[in-house]
Amino acid sequence: MLLDVRITLRNRIVGFGSVLLAVLGGAGFRSFGQAPTQTQQLQTTQAPSGQPASAQSSTAPPGILPQQAQAQRGGLTVVVIDPAHGGTDPGARGAGGMRESDLVLDYAAQARKSLQAQGFQVRLTRQGNDNPSFDDRSAMANAQRGTVFVTLHVSSTGSPGTVRVYTMTDFPQAASAPGLIPWDRAQAPFLELSRQLGNLVQGQLTLQFKGSPNTVQPATIRQLRATAAPAIAVEVSSILVEDPAELGRMGTGIADAIARGVAAFRPIYDASAVPGTAP
Ligand SMILES: [Zn+2]
Repeated sequence: MLLDVRITLRNRIVGFGSVLLAVLGGAGFRSFGQAPTQTQQLQTTQAPSGQPASAQSSTAPPGILPQQAQAQRGGLTVVVIDPAHGGTDPGARGAGGMRESDLVLDYAAQARKSLQAQGFQVRLTRQGNDNPSFDDRSAMANAQRGTVFVTLHVSSTGSPGTVRVYTMTDFPQAASAPGLIPWDRAQAPFLELSRQLGNLVQGQLTLQFKGSPNTVQPATIRQLRATAAPAIAVEVSSILVEDPAELGRMGTGIADAIARGVAAFRPIYDASAVPGTAP
């Protein structure tokens, strides 16, 4: 399931002039006057207990890793895969104790293999049953260039055996300071690239999973909004499938479709004027 976004993250901006994020906690910068509000469900399921209701504070994002040096030279090289939920947040729950958080971790591991076979470096926002904050997950993509972000979900709605891709709905870019945009609008400059990536991945998924939509769909998604990279949400239907093994069997096709879609997107990314990179 996907989470809506009605957020204001405190005192944070993304510095596109630098690979590193500018995290100016306590610096007096406040991007918007609105107060943080609760998250909302796109789907009809109940929010799990323990789900953060507003932006979490976090420590500074990870530093530059050796592989990021390559990414800085330009071109799409890194895919951040986000198995959603985890820890105290199991996400959607199905029969027999099946949990969305476990399913997406399996999907992420398969997607990593498929993407590595396409020559991408892959980072997962979590390796086990923990629950990094929304901000920490986005920070893995925001801290480097040459990156796309894919968050994985399993819904409790939709036709079983189908997969949908979402991108963040349009929202205005906000000018704050030269070269800087507020963290909670980090996705704004990437919306068109996200849609192109989303359509390519959705097209591959629809080839594999009949009945899936033909094109990417917009949604307000908490995890995507703060991501300063082309970013999509992939949502598999559904946790309520009659045969739980069917969801497991979908993993190979999902991984293959994501890898093919991202590979098809690579020349588009490389030829585009990606925000924050030199022309
Ligand atoms: Zn979910």
